[in-house]
Amino acid sequence: MDLSVVIPIYNEEANIALLYERLRAVVEGMALPGGYEFIFVNDGSRDQSMALLRLLASRDERVRYLDFSRNFGHQIAVTAGLDGAQGAAVVIIDADLQDPPELIPELYQKLHQGYEVVYAKRRSRRGESRAKQLTAKLFYRLLAQITHISIPVDTGDFRIISQKVVAALRQMPEQNKFIRGQISWIGYRQACVEYDRTERAGGATGYTYRKMLGLALDGITAFSDVPLRVATISGFTVSGVAFLVMLYTLYARFISHDFQPGWASLMISILFLGGVQLIAVGVIGEYIARLSANVRQRPLYIVSETNIAPPPSPEASA
Ligand code: UDP
Ligand code: MG
Repeated sequence: MDLSVVIPIYNEEANIALLYERLRAVVEGMALPGGYEFIFVNDGSRDQSMALLRLLASRDERVRYLDFSRNFGHQIAVTAGLDGAQGAAVVIIDADLQDPPELIPELYQKLHQGYEVVYAKRRSRRGESRAKQLTAKLFYRLLAQITHISIPVDTGDFRIISQKVVAALRQMPEQNKFIRGQISWIGYRQACVEYDRTERAGGATGYTYRKMLGLALDGITAFSDVPLRVATISGFTVSGVAFLVMLYTLYARFISHDFQPGWASLMISILFLGGVQLIAVGVIGEYIARLSANVRQRPLYIVSETNIAPPPSPEASA
């Protein structure tokens, strides 16, 4: 099989029909001799998405689907799709048509010019709130600063990857997925194609601020130890300052005898030290939480229904 297209679905009933039409038109146009498949992963949608997917699958045998037992999150949905993908090349694309399917032939062509990954970089993004655009922009730049691997800025998961990269991803067992980071970590020759990101075709975003913060922390903790180092360095800095203040206190008390009752300075230093300690503990906590999630070795996801045979076992990726 030449191409698999992996599409995570969370409450996308308004987009599925149009998405399928556009995908099919594009991929049929590519005239792939080995054939293709669409893998829809229903990530616990609460609307009619699953019914629509079943209907599509009953009409088109190239439509595969996986239905999760609940909402496991976008990154896990993509991972499940990759676990089931059989194509020599695999496209990851959002269901809301913010990533234009019409770009797929270009990605596919470029991949065959000797790359293993061709990612689609957002030249512009429309229809998203200022706050989202700004936080996304800051996040990608912060991440670029604090990681050793180069994760391309302003790039989501919309991309095409070769079977080699899919195989490498399947060997990465982490529970907290940050797929665009993992793909950068894997390496190989990677290229990029630019595109203009449009607004959602229909429905509403499934990415709440909580989910975005979770994704950002997963990305940072999985690919950088800088926050831990910052905690250590600020600990040393603060204790250094505290030591100087201590010397001064002793001097004032015993030598110059020029000391004040000192309630304000006491309060300030206690509050400041308390804050710094809590932040440091919090940072460590973020890492420990992810460590313990991996130690539990739970499957990444639970599939309640699928038409992919044999059903991909979560253990394969866990
Ligand atoms: N998605 C998902 N699980 C979730 C949230 C989103 O599978 O918990 C899917 C969603 O259906 C879409 C893609 O992930 O195909 C991107 O989500 P969305 O468009 O809501 O994010 P945004 O573009 O606003 O960042
Ligand atoms: Mg979207």
